[in-house]
Amino acid sequence: MRTELEATLLHCRNLPSPPGVALQIIALAQDPNATLGAAAQAIGVDPALSARLLRVANSPLYATRRRIETLAQAMAMLGLNATLSLALGFSLAHGLRGSNGTAQLQDRIWRRSVLMAIASRLLGQQANLKRGEMLMLAGLLQDIGRLALLKAMPEDYTTLCAEATDNDALLELERARFDADHAEVGAWLARRWSLPDYLVEAIASSESSGAEDPFLRCIQASGAVADLWLANPETDPDARQRALSRVVAITGGDSEILDELLSLMAAAMPEISAIFDVHIDHPAHLEAISEEARELLILRNLRQIQDAAQSQQEVRATEERMRQLSEQARRDPLTGVYNRLHMEEVLEREFAAAGMHPLTVALIDLDDFKQINDRHGHLVGDQVLRQFAQTVQRTLRNTDLIARYGGEEFLLVLNYSNESSAKLVLQRLLEQVSNTPMAVVDGQPIFTTFSAGIATHNAGPEGRFDSVHALLQAADDVLYGAKRDGRNRVRLHGA
Ligand code: GH3
Ligand code: MG
Ligand code: MG
Repeated sequence: MRTELEATLLHCRNLPSPPGVALQIIALAQDPNATLGAAAQAIGVDPALSARLLRVANSPLYATRRRIETLAQAMAMLGLNATLSLALGFSLAHGLRGSNGTAQLQDRIWRRSVLMAIASRLLGQQANLKRGEMLMLAGLLQDIGRLALLKAMPEDYTTLCAEATDNDALLELERARFDADHAEVGAWLARRWSLPDYLVEAIASSESSGAEDPFLRCIQASGAVADLWLANPETDPDARQRALSRVVAITGGDSEILDELLSLMAAAMPEISAIFDVHIDHPAHLEAISEEARELLILRNLRQIQDAAQSQQEVRATEERMRQLSEQARRDPLTGVYNRLHMEEVLEREFAAAGMHPLTVALIDLDDFKQINDRHGHLVGDQVLRQFAQTVQRTLRNTDLIARYGGEEFLLVLNYSNESSAKLVLQRLLEQVSNTPMAVVDGQPIFTTFSAGIATHNAGPEGRFDSVHALLQAADDVLYGAKRDGRNRVRLHGA
């Protein structure tokens, strides 16, 4: 690209730039270690973006039977790459719109871009390519060069667009005026934004034809399809022929393939318009879709429903696996109760949400546990820990939580319990535990006792703690006191 044009673009203060969320998503897209969790975090901060993703996941583009209710479900169904591509498309589409007296032309450019996005995707589908979302994103972004030229030279570029009778004419005018066309400018901009290479390449070659790569050919044909959609057949009778020859070249199909494509686009358009927030009419000149195309569509839909049922099953299995994994990550493998890390997270949340309500923690440490190990061996010790955890879980209310805090130490969180009721609960628990055999060795039952320290946040006006850490420290202090006083007892902080 000519340095003069580059300088003009660089000096343009309001050159389109990606919003913050998009920048994060671009970074994730380049990161080979990116995870769905990281993507969910980046996307989750933008409620509008999350809503768009949910909407697209429930749209006819994905033949899902079951309604997708949460961002996590949508992302599990779409997968990481698809999620990132869609999110990037939405956030850029949203962030790059804005008026500077050229709203009308900008709007036309976006309408064409959205049509190219959906056409690229459906062309890929017809040619049996995967990567539908990447096609959609490349289709959507192929004209960002026009937005850049419009922002940098609003008057010049508006005049130029008004002069151009069709896209080919526009390209020629651009080359004559700037010594570069909008595909070149778009690729330059995409590189500056660090968009992935495949996008830079797709944008750069979007106005050429005859690419080897079927992905690029879908993008190259999408412009002609969008132009056909927007054409006035009276002034541009060749639009259909242009689109047809491009589409046929990609898919190797016959003329029906274009009708099928247009009817698929018509079916997707209400949803697509809503998601991208543009208004796209269905043109009267495309209303007459041939009977054959309709039949073809019905057959294809039947097949899609079958495929969808299968992929739904796979999605459910993946979701279940993800649920199991995250549940596993919270649990202590020996006893099955929550682990320390998870409990600390829960406790931080409860603490923040407690307001003026009492929130009680109890640290429990088994008495003389080392002796059990020493006398009966480690495996019996393990058995005692398991049995102890189960006994506690059986005895507590459903709303109370238990976690293994360390070797033979456990942490209880008693929501909405004040000090005196917590002390009663722990004393009852101590009685229960000391009367329940924790293991049987050579026919002999093994019993254990414990010592506990209790501390309550919001016990009264004086009883507020500054942090979870301070609350746990208080419980630990009184636990130490209980041990010192002879074990097998429950102590209350501040009593
Ligand atoms: P105290 O009444 O003062 O608490 O005495 P104690 O013997 O219970 O305390 P101490 O901290 O000296 O010993 C705890 C023991 O718990 C030492 C460690 O080997 C044992 N332990 C820690 N984790 C496990 C485990 O997962 N399985 C088994 N079997 N033993 C464990
Ligand atoms: Mg201990
Ligand atoms: Mg102990």
